[in-house]
Amino acid sequence: MKIKSSADYMASLQKLSPIIYYKGKKIKDVVNHPATAPHVRAAAMTYATANSEESKDLATATSHLTGRTISRFTHVHQNVEDLLKKVKLLRLLGQKTGTCFQRCVGFDGINAVYSVAYEVDRKHGTDYLERFKKWLIRIQDENLMVVGAMTDPKGDRSKSPVDQSDPDQFVHIVERRKDGVVVRGAKLHMTGAVNSHEILIMPTMAMDEKSKDYAFVCAVPVDAPGITMIFGRQAGDDRRDNLERIDVGKPSFGAVGGEAVIVFDDVFVPNDRVFLDGEVEFTGDIVYRFAAHHRANYGACKTGLMDVLTGAVSYLCQIQGTSKGSHVRDKITEMIHLCETLYSSSLACSIEGAPTASGAFLVNTMLANVCKQNVTRFHFEVARLAVDLAGGFLATLPSEYDLRSDEVGHLVSKYFSGVADIPVEDRIKIGRLIEAMTGGTALVESMHGAGSPQAQRIMIFREGDLGNKIKLAKALAGLPSDKTEKRKKAEEGKKN
Ligand code: SF4
Ligand code: FE
Repeated sequence: MKIKSSADYMASLQKLSPIIYYKGKKIKDVVNHPATAPHVRAAAMTYATANSEESKDLATATSHLTGRTISRFTHVHQNVEDLLKKVKLLRLLGQKTGTCFQRCVGFDGINAVYSVAYEVDRKHGTDYLERFKKWLIRIQDENLMVVGAMTDPKGDRSKSPVDQSDPDQFVHIVERRKDGVVVRGAKLHMTGAVNSHEILIMPTMAMDEKSKDYAFVCAVPVDAPGITMIFGRQAGDDRRDNLERIDVGKPSFGAVGGEAVIVFDDVFVPNDRVFLDGEVEFTGDIVYRFAAHHRANYGACKTGLMDVLTGAVSYLCQIQGTSKGSHVRDKITEMIHLCETLYSSSLACSIEGAPTASGAFLVNTMLANVCKQNVTRFHFEVARLAVDLAGGFLATLPSEYDLRSDEVGHLVSKYFSGVADIPVEDRIKIGRLIEAMTGGTALVESMHGAGSPQAQRIMIFREGDLGNKIKLAKALAGLPSDKTEKRKKAEEGKKN
């Protein structure tokens, strides 16, 4: 592995030159800019865990392509154990960062594209998998971070890609050359984009025959000519700009993943980096396999966040002298229960995982959808309980400037103190941590990341096998199992 540590990772980012805008200005150094540095540090934890004795086994894997030791974030799942290790790794990283560490998006993209490329080649005699393997071996050997780029702007959502008045609302191929393709459009909400090395572009939805130019997969370096990124705002980012460290709540890491718009303005992609081109019937599989892996993740990374939140609230209750109240214990019990329920779901869809034709393992898609659907509720309920227990001071707490002020600092200390033996600064810091993990943009990812709740409900209904459930009910009610049987009986009756 070329990148061996967090420091190597940060140094590797400084060698790249992506074009990134934030609040109308260019970011020159993503590693040190106050808006992006917390996200770089969170992603860097994925490198650090691979070096720590306690987490090495979870954070590394043996490449099935080279036999070499690689980061798990670049691995193609070879068995159920790989899927389970991923879940455990993501929870651990959620606990260490309290936020999104971003690297799973590319990880899931790699797994989706690998298994689908195998099937495309089998049907069409193409060589996408060989090209993909070549690219992936470099990603594994150099230990690069990949942003999985899926979500297109979509413009008028009642219209298909080719019917949009602006064709760039979906990323598409605008020119095919002998040596490659030229790509135009944009991807939105791209987690970890500004601090990745490579972009893996995938279609945003199943495409039809008319949309061949939109049905492609390819990889480009983040600083390829024609790429511009616009980094998103987050609630409280001005606090970070001014280095108000306590008021930030989580000084080392960001509130969410650090998302950006990636614009592709006629970006040239050489043929050996194109992994699907026009085989429209496979686009749905790429989207669905990617989504299933990512939905499974949420019962892992977000439970790590819930662990932190539950710990923060429990400590705050100790500081405030309420920890012995029976309703407090009951609410904390509920927070733990909801968190572990989600984790069970993430483990379950991994244990029920199965090999695709390529040999790469895929999670159980029904259970992965159930897992993510519950995240859209349980994480919010855990946050609600945290705010309930923390109290109104979360919204009215004076700033760090006042705490440090010669004139009013002693008043803030006096009136925000709790039990005698815990410093007031602890109460303020924990309060700000809870604020950062429950307010503003903190929970949006749990709702919409890996697809909005409705996307999971569609798949849950589709995969729910209602026909079989009806059969079960009919059998117990003593009804004929289907129409044919009913008809057969009626016909027999007539004959008799
Ligand atoms: Fe990974 Fe979770 Fe962030 Fe998705 S939301 S990239 S699964 S940490
Ligand atoms: Fe996410």
